Amino acid sequence: MRPLSASQLLSLWDAGQRRHPIDRALLALALALPEEAPEGLADHPVGWREARLLALRNLTFGTQLDGYDACPRCGAMMEFSVDGNALLAELPLPAQDAVIELDGGKWRLPSSRDQALALEADNPEAVARALLERCHVDGNEPVSPAQIASLETLMEALDPAANIRLGMHCSDCGQHWDALLDVGNWFWDELGACARELLHTVHRLARAYGWPEADILALSPARRAAYLDLVG
Ligand SMILES: [Zn+2]
Repeated sequence: MRPLSASQLLSLWDAGQRRHPIDRALLALALALPEEAPEGLADHPVGWREARLLALRNLTFGTQLDGYDACPRCGAMMEFSVDGNALLAELPLPAQDAVIELDGGKWRLPSSRDQALALEADNPEAVARALLERCHVDGNEPVSPAQIASLETLMEALDPAANIRLGMHCSDCGQHWDALLDVGNWFWDELGACARELLHTVHRLARAYGWPEADILALSPARRAAYLDLVG
């Protein structure tokens, strides 16, 4: 995997504007993992996608993740600061053909493709049911609410990167909770900020020197910064 170049960052930001977050993540990974067949990216487990996207985000924007979450008990905003690579090291990736057994049935882990198709259902419970029915490898009988809960727990244990949790503690009231880290949102926000800065740079250098956008994006970050200084 390599970090995204300035030109790839802008293309991704542009192409991702009207896409679903799952598609944005897959577009980013297609750029970062040219050795993988693009049509196969959607078949990996969801946690694989989230972990690879976090790795790409760490490479492109640096490993530090600073954010905050509201205490569920008293509402106080609590900050967190984690190292993205240390976080990745704690998240085991499951085999693509991992199977979960429950009540004599077998399920595979949901992939991005399963997730996207299940989203066509019209409420969260129907989405969860559709997802598990798609992943039921040896039958198609409906899953009970109790089975849905058990399968979700088993899947999360096997593919923890699908729902990345950060242990939080409230210094005001003592509450402990898990904050969910939405890697896709996080990456998209950072990408947006970076794209706006790049566009601003292109605008100033193109106006000063008459260079085309592609030439400005092809400069190293150090050269772009040096020319910006000269433009003043
Ligand atoms: Zn609190």
